[in-house]
Amino acid sequence: MRALKYADPWDLRLVEVETLHALRPHDVVVDIHYCGICGTDLGIASGFYPVAQQGVTIGHEATGIVAEVGEKVTNAKVGDRVVINPTPFCGACRMCESRRTNHCTNKMGTESGVSYDGAFADRFLTTQEYVHVLPEDVSLKAAALTEPLACVLGGVRQLDLSLPSPYTFVFGAGPLGLLYVWALSLRGVLPIVIERSEARLRSAGPRLPKGAKIYRSLEEARRSHFHDPEAPLDLVIDTTSGMLMELYPQLACGSTFLSVGLKTQDATIDALQLADRSLTILGSIDSRDGSFSEAFNLIASGLLPAEKLISDVISLEDYERAFSTLGCDIRNQQLGPAPDASCKVLLSIGGE
Ligand SMILES: [Zn+2]
Ligand SMILES: [Zn+2]
Repeated sequence: MRALKYADPWDLRLVEVETLHALRPHDVVVDIHYCGICGTDLGIASGFYPVAQQGVTIGHEATGIVAEVGEKVTNAKVGDRVVINPTPFCGACRMCESRRTNHCTNKMGTESGVSYDGAFADRFLTTQEYVHVLPEDVSLKAAALTEPLACVLGGVRQLDLSLPSPYTFVFGAGPLGLLYVWALSLRGVLPIVIERSEARLRSAGPRLPKGAKIYRSLEEARRSHFHDPEAPLDLVIDTTSGMLMELYPQLACGSTFLSVGLKTQDATIDALQLADRSLTILGSIDSRDGSFSEAFNLIASGLLPAEKLISDVISLEDYERAFSTLGCDIRNQQLGPAPDASCKVLLSIGGE
C-alpha cells in the first residue's frame, strides 16, 4: 500500500509500505477514500509546525470503507462507510476526567497524521471507538469535514454565546474560518468575515451561510456594514494567528478573543488592560469531549452542508499539486497565501 510520509521540512515522500491488517480484537482497518488537507499538514510539510514525527504518514481528516475488523468489533463491519476520529484519548487520565480529552496525557503526542501514522495512505489502522458508520445519504466527501468541524465545535464550546452580539468577527475565510461561521450561525450568531486574500474572498462568498457578510478589511466592514468607523469588537475568532496584537487595544470591555491558527507568532499584551477591561483570551486545538460526535451529527443531518466547502478533489499521487493549490509549494519551498480560489482540498485515495 502507498503512504505519504513526512521525511523532513519540504520533503514528503509517497512510498510503498507494508499493508495494514486488523490483528488485535478491536482493530478496524479502513480503505481510505478521501482525506482532507489541513493547515496542520501545510505546517508539517513546510517545517512551521515542528511537532510532527519524522517518518510519520500524515493526513487526519479521513473517510473510507471498512476493509478488516478484529473479532470483538461490534459497531462496524467490512464494507461499512465510515469517518475516522484521528484524536485518541484514554478516558481515564486527569485531562480526560476533566473534559480535556484533546490533551490526554496517555496518548503519544497529538493525533494520527502528526505523532503517529495517519491517513494519506491506502489504509489506516484504528480501533472500533474511533470509527463512525455513515448514513447512506451522507457522502464520503462531505464526511471528510467531520474532524475539522469537531475542532471548531471544541472552540465554540468555550465561548459564552448567551449574549449574542452583531459585533462578532471571524478573521480568515479558509475552511477553518468558514466552519466557524457555520458553527456559530447554527447557534444563532452570524459573524462578519474578514479576508485579505482576493482569491479566498472570491471562493468564500458562495460557501457562507445565508446572510453572512465578508469584507477585505476590518475598516471596510466597519464602514460598509456598521456605518461606524469605531464599531466595537465583542467576539473575535482569529484563524490566521496574526491578529492578537493589532486588535488587542480595540477589544471591547468584556469581549473575547479566540485564537485557533497554528502559526508561531509572538504577541505582547498589557496585563493591566486584560483585567481592567475584563478581556478573555482563549486558544483551542483539536476535537474534545464529544465534539466529534456533535460534528458527525451536524454533517449527517445536513444542518451543516459540508460538501459546499470542498473546492478541489485531487488524487494522492498528485499531492504536490494539491498542496500548492493551498499555497504550499513543496518544490520551491515556499508557503504563502492560496493562489487560487480554493477552499477545502481533499486528496482522493480510493474514490467514491
Ligand atoms: Zn486538521
Ligand atoms: Zn486520557
